[in-house]
Amino acid sequence: MSELETIIGIDLGTTNSLAATVLEHGPEALRPPGAEAIMPSVLSRSGQGWLVGAAAREERTRSPETTVYSVKRLMGRDAEYLADEIARLHYRVEPAMRGLVRVRIGEETFTPQELSAELLREIKRRSEEALGHPVAKAVITVPAYFDDSQRQATRDAGRIAGLDVVRIINEPTAAAIAYGLDQKKSGLVAVYDLGGGTFDISLLSLSGKVFKVLSTHGDTHLGGDDFDRLLAEELRQRVLAEHPGAELDSPLAAALLLKTAELLKIDLSRALETGYELDLPGQGLRASGRMTREELNELIAPLVERTLDSARQALKAAGKSAEEVQDVVMVGGSSRVPLVREEVERFFGRRPNISINPDEVVAVGAAIQGHLLAGGRRDFLLLDVIPLSLGLETLGGTFSKLIMGNTTLPAQAGELFTTHVDNQTGVDVNIYQGEREFVKDCRSLGRFRLKGLPPMPAGLPRINVSFEVDANGILTVSAREERSGTEASIEVIPSHGLTGEEIDRIMEDSYEHAMDDLNERQMVEFRNMADAVFRGIEKAWEDAERMLSSEATGMIRQQMDKVRQVAQGSDPLALKREMDLLGRMTQPLADAIISKAALTELRKFYEDTGSGPESG
Ligand code: AMP
Repeated sequence: MSELETIIGIDLGTTNSLAATVLEHGPEALRPPGAEAIMPSVLSRSGQGWLVGAAAREERTRSPETTVYSVKRLMGRDAEYLADEIARLHYRVEPAMRGLVRVRIGEETFTPQELSAELLREIKRRSEEALGHPVAKAVITVPAYFDDSQRQATRDAGRIAGLDVVRIINEPTAAAIAYGLDQKKSGLVAVYDLGGGTFDISLLSLSGKVFKVLSTHGDTHLGGDDFDRLLAEELRQRVLAEHPGAELDSPLAAALLLKTAELLKIDLSRALETGYELDLPGQGLRASGRMTREELNELIAPLVERTLDSARQALKAAGKSAEEVQDVVMVGGSSRVPLVREEVERFFGRRPNISINPDEVVAVGAAIQGHLLAGGRRDFLLLDVIPLSLGLETLGGTFSKLIMGNTTLPAQAGELFTTHVDNQTGVDVNIYQGEREFVKDCRSLGRFRLKGLPPMPAGLPRINVSFEVDANGILTVSAREERSGTEASIEVIPSHGLTGEEIDRIMEDSYEHAMDDLNERQMVEFRNMADAVFRGIEKAWEDAERMLSSEATGMIRQQMDKVRQVAQGSDPLALKREMDLLGRMTQPLADAIISKAALTELRKFYEDTGSGPESG
């Protein structure tokens, strides 16, 4: 892949921006060493230069006049259109030529394109630092509702930043591509994007790998920040109830309430209940309490309902119903809120796609688009889930699954195996991937041999085989014989060379062959069982001849032949019937042998302890 030209994907967001690229093992958000992948879309003028990203965001409260955020809202829009927007911003925005706007900082003014270019320049620099080589080309995403002049403004920003913008694509399209939905033949996809400050939902129709935006709806001032505000107000009320004199309206107290609210909200995405603590040092005030997810849900339910209203509108505009939507994709940090996921699932009647980090999914999709434009192949997988089951070959060529397909990463599993032959000093560990019952129908991933086992009777060694898939999708298989401590291991990358299409084909095959496979697998398992039973009978044959009548032993021999004969066939139930019959015939023998063994053990016990029934 290294010979391909790098075309990075950039999600240039209202609040945050980030870049991603496709590496050998698949797409990945770009992080400069020691930094986050996500960069706040904030700029702060410092002397003749700019502070960009997290450092600029710190300046926002300190010097609001020189700190610029939400530039995306200004792109390609005229002053008249932006009047409401401008009233909300803390920095100055002035009308400029051709009905456009400029941002004023002291004596200087800047176009939104120039400001966005500063963000892109920083993203480019960070990407180069992460990759260790220059980057010249990019795919940049924009909201589906961006018009031509907003798209053109974005393109210009890229050019000013020294980037060749090879394509501008819609954010929802990028998200759908990230999930590989473009690989399907056709379908209707809903992309639900709930960020910190904006919400939109888009309906895309797919035909021939190309997405068309059928409709889009949303609210450019609705998001997780509103959840925080509601929660902060609830906290304020609670504190006031406890400390009626508290002064909670100062900017500092308000900021503290908001910060506490956001942390509480994020905690409640994981926990059903959590505690909070508020410290207002200036007032010597300390308040603490507990909040449940239920309480949060109650507060935010009306806002979530508003997003569903948008979804209804978007469906109506497209002339579609919720049932017609085949895939739902979740984007934006606030799509992690459990109530949001639950309500979206209820609305569409299907599980939304959430396995890719919702902050990164748009950049990842743009990176994949860039990779394809550079002539790359989609021969990687998105490794947030294990696409196909992973397991081992077991006796008779059967496939024994240790980790099931669709398990989220990282994952691990282990199982105990043993030997089938006496004095076996080595065991082959053959690793496969697939959904069928026999390894001959699965994909081989690798093999190794656990050697140097001390000779032991069959069935005695305890061989612990463990499968571990890390966050990057790398599988490590290790085997350890527990009695002797002998061990060996191997590392493989299950996704190598697998395409989404292949996975679909493998899944289809497994459905098609499910019944045949199951029959065949049962046959093998019953044959293995029959072999073990035969071995037991042969070992005890001398006893059998002594204990049973010749008529009975003759019948056992006859039945053994019958089992052998049916084992050649392909009817597992018939084989099971004959084996059960054999089991009933050998029952008296088995009982006799067991009591004989018990008697021997008992004698041994009394001899060892020097006391026996005779002397007792
Ligand atoms: P975005 O604009 O897509 O970066 O989303 C940012 C929003 O996502 C903010 O309101 C965050 O508070 C919110 N957010 C991030 N992580 C979580 C989480 N685990 N649970 C709930 N909200 C979250």
